[in-house]
Amino acid sequence: MTAKIISGKDVAADIREQIRAEVETLAEKGIQPGLATILIGEDPGSHSYVTAKNKTAKDLGFHSVQETHGADISEADLLALVDKYNRDEKVHGILVQLPLPAHIDENKVIAAIDPDKDVDGFHPYNVGRLVIGQPGFASCTPAGIMELIARSGAETEGAEVVVVGRSNIVGKPMAIMMMQKAQGANATVTVVHTRTRDMAAHTRRADILIVAAGRANSVTADMVKPGAVVIDVGTNRVGVTESGKAKLAGDVDFEAVKEVAGAITPVPGGVGPMTITMLMKNTLISAKRHAGLDA
Ligand code: NAP
Repeated sequence: MTAKIISGKDVAADIREQIRAEVETLAEKGIQPGLATILIGEDPGSHSYVTAKNKTAKDLGFHSVQETHGADISEADLLALVDKYNRDEKVHGILVQLPLPAHIDENKVIAAIDPDKDVDGFHPYNVGRLVIGQPGFASCTPAGIMELIARSGAETEGAEVVVVGRSNIVGKPMAIMMMQKAQGANATVTVVHTRTRDMAAHTRRADILIVAAGRANSVTADMVKPGAVVIDVGTNRVGVTESGKAKLAGDVDFEAVKEVAGAITPVPGGVGPMTITMLMKNTLISAKRHAGLDA
């Protein structure tokens, strides 16, 4: 069996068209969603993520500001910058690109973002609301994966979902979303990590396997149940393409696993485009909430 390819690129394009249409409708009411991105330091990966986020925001008709500062910025100056955008009425979403330089306390910076503008969904207030199933801002990567799974037609209710990885930005919120008592969720969730005794025993039970380990080939074909839906979150730089761009590989051995799985996301073109799209969706929702509209 060869798996159906779940194209995040196509789903993302579809959602972006819906966002663009809403932005046009909001413009008639004098409302323009605004996103501020803050980039600290020279990390090439962070640079390309932030550039892509700004470009997408502009393409969709958002007000978009990018702040770029050297790695020597003080924590106090960064906190002041966050505060400036907390108070800027044209900005509905603030994104501080992580990781931050070692002398800055990431948790302090995340906590300084107004929770009502925390479109990344990393603020403890929004994480708490996610856990108790209340509206807030959901972390973009797992929220994008929920969309991909819903649109793939996979049944989540009662399904065995195994999440590989327990990071605060992917693994943990992913598990929480899948276990919610809600349509498109209601799954039985297992989370595995580096201290799990027999990881393959768990992954082989998964109807839906979500892999966010950050290591290429963490999941091989023998670890996958025939017919499973496999979502590969990993973006590992494994070389350079002929055009000089970073060559990416997921966490899953794609070529072998696609012969076992029922459906699978590719890397690139799977989860990645969804993450940016959900950031845009959160910013749109924030703009509507700030204007007192239903979101
Ligand atoms: P992270 O913070 O490094 O967390 C990785 C998690 O995977 C940890 O919980 C770790 O366990 C676990 N793990 C690592 N190797 C494992 C193994 N061999 N077996 C079982 N568990 C293992 O990474 P992250 O931020 O969650 O990101 C994961 C991957 O997704 C990265 O490649 C990242 O670049 C990618 N990503 C992509 C997007 C996107 O939009 N496409 C967005 C976010 C992240 P311990 O906790 O025990 O150390």
